[in-house]
Amino acid sequence: MSTFQDLGLNDDLLQAITDLGFTKPSEVQEKAIPILLESETDLVALAQTGTGKTAAFGFPMLEKIDINSRTTQGLILSPTRELCLQITNEMKQYGKYCKGLNVVAIYGGSSITDQAREVKRGAQIIVATPGRMKDMISRRLVDISKIQYSVLDEADEMLNMGFKEDITDILSHTPEDKNTWLFSATMPREVATIAKKFMKDPQEITVGNKNESTNQVSHEYYLVNARDRYQALKRLSDANPDIFSVVFCRTKRDTQKVAEQLIEDGYSAGALHGDLSQNQRDLVMKSFRNKQIQTLVATDVAARGIDVDDITHVINYQLPDEPETYTHRSGRTGRAGKTGISMVIVSKSEVRKIKSIERIIKKQFEKKEIPDGADICEVQLMSLANKIHNTEINHEIDKHLTSINELFADTDKDELIKKFFSVEFTRFYNYYQKSKNLNVSESSRDREGGRESGRNFGGKNDSTRYFINVGGKDGFDWMKLKDFLKEQLNLGRDDVFKVETKDSFSFFNTENELKEKVLAHFTDFKHEGRFVNVEVSENRGGGGRRDRKGGGRRDGGRRDDRRGGRRRDDRKEGSGNRSERRRSDSASKPRRSDSGGSGISRPRRSRR
Ligand code: AMP
Repeated sequence: MSTFQDLGLNDDLLQAITDLGFTKPSEVQEKAIPILLESETDLVALAQTGTGKTAAFGFPMLEKIDINSRTTQGLILSPTRELCLQITNEMKQYGKYCKGLNVVAIYGGSSITDQAREVKRGAQIIVATPGRMKDMISRRLVDISKIQYSVLDEADEMLNMGFKEDITDILSHTPEDKNTWLFSATMPREVATIAKKFMKDPQEITVGNKNESTNQVSHEYYLVNARDRYQALKRLSDANPDIFSVVFCRTKRDTQKVAEQLIEDGYSAGALHGDLSQNQRDLVMKSFRNKQIQTLVATDVAARGIDVDDITHVINYQLPDEPETYTHRSGRTGRAGKTGISMVIVSKSEVRKIKSIERIIKKQFEKKEIPDGADICEVQLMSLANKIHNTEINHEIDKHLTSINELFADTDKDELIKKFFSVEFTRFYNYYQKSKNLNVSESSRDREGGRESGRNFGGKNDSTRYFINVGGKDGFDWMKLKDFLKEQLNLGRDDVFKVETKDSFSFFNTENELKEKVLAHFTDFKHEGRFVNVEVSENRGGGGRRDRKGGGRRDGGRRDDRRGGRRRDDRKEGSGNRSERRRSDSASKPRRSDSGGSGISRPRRSRR
C-alpha cells in the first residue's frame, strides 16, 4: 500500500490531504494518480461513487495545471448540480494551498451572469453540468478552447440523463489534443461508445469489477405483497432505530407521496425529486446532511448528486427500471470505508429482477424476513435502554430531585423502570401488537399484490370489492372518494382501501365484515340530488367487471372506461392506485419521537 507521498503529489496538495485527514490513498487514487501524473494520456476509470474518485482526477489536475495562468485549462462535466457543487467544493479543499487557484461551478438554476463573472475573473478549472455549459458556450460566456484536461464524471449517469448530445457539442469546442479522463460506475454500451469516440487509446483502470457494487455493501431483499410495501418500509425503518437512509422510488409522484406519508406518520423524512424548486432541494439536502432528516425519499435522478458519507441503508421501495441503476442506488451507502446495507422491497412479480441485478453486481442477495411487531418492539425498547444508559446526566434536574423522590417514595426500582419505559413503549406496543406478518413465501400460490390473499395474512380473502357509480366526472379522485366513503360510513382511514376512480364509476374495498353496513348505507342513497349506487364487484382485486344489474347513472362511453380499467389492473399490480394502497396501509402507524432520535418511535394513536 502506497502513501500520498509515494504517488508523487506536491507539498501543497500533501498539506491539504493532511488537513483533510486522508491517511492513505484509496484504490482508485492509488491506481489513477500515478498514471495521470506521469503521462499525458486518456483514461477510463470504472469506479463507484464514494471510492474517492474526485481526488483521483482532482489531484493530478491540480498538479498539472498552471495556476499562474488565468486561462481555463481543466473542465469537469458532471450530471447534476449537486455533484457539480460537491466536486467544486472538494477541488477547492484539495487546492486550498495552491495560491491563485480559481475553481468555478457552472450549473443551471442559478444566475448565469454571476457564473459568467466568476469565469471572467480567470477560472483555471470549470466544473459544469452539461446543459448550462452548453448554454454558456453558445452565449460566448466561457472559452474552453485551451482546455488541456477534461473529465467526464459519472459518465453513465450523464448518458442516462440524455446529455450525450450536449457532451458531444461541448467537447467539439475543446482542443483535439487534450486529455480526457472518463469516470463511470458502470460500463454500459453507450459509455464504451463515448470512450471510443472521444478518446485516444485510453488506459483503463477498474476498481472492483465492471458494474460491480462495492464490497462494503450487503444486499438484502424482502418479499411482500405489493400493497404492503409502505408498511414494510416502516417496519424496516423501525427495526433499525438509528437508520440514516435513502429510500428510492421510481417516480416523482411516488417519491413525494411516500415522503409525505412518512412525515404524516411521524418520521423525520424529506422528499428529493425534480418537481421541487432548487431552493427546496437545497433545503432538503441541507437537513439531510445535518441529520435533521433521517430518511430521504428520492428519485434516481435527484439522488445522483448525493454525497453523504454516513448513509447506513439504501432502501429500494421500488426496483429501478434498469438493473444497472441499482448499482448507483446501492453505491449511496458503504462510502468512504464504511459498511452499508441495500434493501429491496419486492413483490412476487418483481422477484426475478433480483436475479438480473445479482448478475450485474456480481453479488448475492440475502432473502430476509420483514421483522414482526414483537421483534421491532424489542429492538426499539433495547435501543431506548441503551440511549438512556449512555445519556449524560443533566444536573439541572438535581434541584427537582427531592420533589421527584417524594412522588416515587413508594415505587421500587423495577416498577420505576417499567413505568419509565412504558411512557414511550406502550404506544409502540399497541400499534404493533396486532400487526400481521408481511412476508410472502416465494413458492406460495397467492397472487402477487395481495389480491387473492385479501387484506389479512393467511391466504384467505377477507375483503369485499365494490362498484360505485360515481367517479372522476363527479369530481372524485381516489382521495376524495375515500374521504367521502369514510365520512358516510363513519369508518377509519384503514377501513376503505384499494379505492380506484375511473371517469364515471369507481371501485373500493372494505373487509367482509363491513359488507352489510356498506350495502345498507347506500340503498336508496342520494347525494347532491342523485342516486349513488354501490354494489359488490365481481373482481375482488382491482377495477374490472362488476356484478351489475343496472342502476348506474351513466352508461355508453363508460364501457370503454371499464375495459380500460380492467386492462390496466390486469397488467401490473400497483400501477393504477399504488399510492392509494400506500395510504390505506398507513393508518395508525408508529410515530417517531420528536426528540430527534433520542427515544423510541412513537406509535400514532389508532383510530380502529
Ligand atoms: P468521492 O468518491 O470522490 O465522492 O469521495 C467520497 C468521500 O471520500 C469524500 O467525502 C472524500 O472527501 C473522501 N475521500 C476521498 N479520498 C479519501 C481518502 N484517501 N481517504 C479518506 N477519505 C477520502
